Amino acid sequence: MSAVPPAPTPPSTPPPPGVQRDYSLSRLTTVRTGGIGELFARVGSRAQLLELLAWAAEAGVQTSVVGSGSNLLVADEGVRGLVVKLDRELSAIAVAGTRILAGGGARLPAVAARAASAGLSGIEFGVNIPGTLGGAVRMNANAYGGELGSVLEWVEIARAGDVERREPHELGLSYRSSSLGPGEVVLGASLLLGEAPVEQVKATLAEMRRRRHEAQPQGIKTFGSTFKNPDDPRAGGRSAGLLLAEAGCNGLAIGGARFAPKHANFIENTGAATTADVLAVMAAGRARVLERFGVELEPEVQTLGPVRFPWL
Ligand SMILES: Cc1cc2nc3c(=O)[nH]c(=O)nc-3n(C[C@H](O)[C@H](O)[C@H](O)COP(=O)(O)OP(=O)(O)OC[C@H]3O[C@@H](n4cnc5c(N)ncnc54)[C@H](O)[C@@H]3O)c2cc1C
Repeated sequence: MSAVPPAPTPPSTPPPPGVQRDYSLSRLTTVRTGGIGELFARVGSRAQLLELLAWAAEAGVQTSVVGSGSNLLVADEGVRGLVVKLDRELSAIAVAGTRILAGGGARLPAVAARAASAGLSGIEFGVNIPGTLGGAVRMNANAYGGELGSVLEWVEIARAGDVERREPHELGLSYRSSSLGPGEVVLGASLLLGEAPVEQVKATLAEMRRRRHEAQPQGIKTFGSTFKNPDDPRAGGRSAGLLLAEAGCNGLAIGGARFAPKHANFIENTGAATTADVLAVMAAGRARVLERFGVELEPEVQTLGPVRFPWL
């Protein structure tokens, strides 16, 4: 893991209390690769977040946000600027009638479980998505026919200097993407759900967990889907995972990274993978699919720091 290159001009004002220097970011991701963050803070309250964003804007420091790191590749060279992670007050979950009000750092499986206990239906699909509500808004997370955009009532977004409430139609939501800008942090959101018997919602959660257990490898270090499912007609309706599998990618390994033997659209860190290994595996799989089917796969995984996809 190499050190972050020195910043050209150090910020004139020192960061507020609670900001750590040279923080290993790989542990904040589910694939466990990547380097050091120049500045890192766990942010537990709205006031603290706004103070940090204001300081960063004033000091000319770029701010990024990490959720559960469950669809994230961090640069091996490290990440310049400030990385924040929401917790405490900003990961709380509350029920108000048929609404769930939760912080951007709340974990989706916990939101789904809380909704089920309150007899609220609509966010069951979140039980299998190991990300935060903020990451799910940014990615318009979906599974088993449910998607976040369809239950969102509003989202609160913090930027340097202000907090704004946006409705789903203002978020540019489409397949695994949104129009949120790089410096915009999802502080929290309201989900508007339907009423249903508690036992029925809990049974749906159990069934979804069971289906997921059957379909995906468990207990591996991965960031879930590597590539988006293509809408190219040459794919013939096949998912990215199926195209990769048919191109012989299951188990294809470079360094410490490989396409999972059980699910070719999942890349697994088998021990000491670097982000460079992951990128090399991605490039190899993408080249095979291009050669075999003429389909150009696009990454779904998000990046932090100077990560460059080799084919771009
Ligand atoms: C085993 C496994 C299964 C998965 N299954 C699914 C699935 O079924 N469906 C699905 O949609 N996804 C799935 N994923 C992918 C991933 O869980 C989702 O994309 C999730 O929404 C990412 O949330 P996160 O908090 O981990 O975000 P991160 O990976 O930490 O970040 C992803 C992006 O969101 C941004 N972000 C994070 N938090 C915030 C915030 N508060 N405000 C603004 N931006 C933010 C980051 O800056 C980054 O650009 C799976 C992943 C794994 C590992």
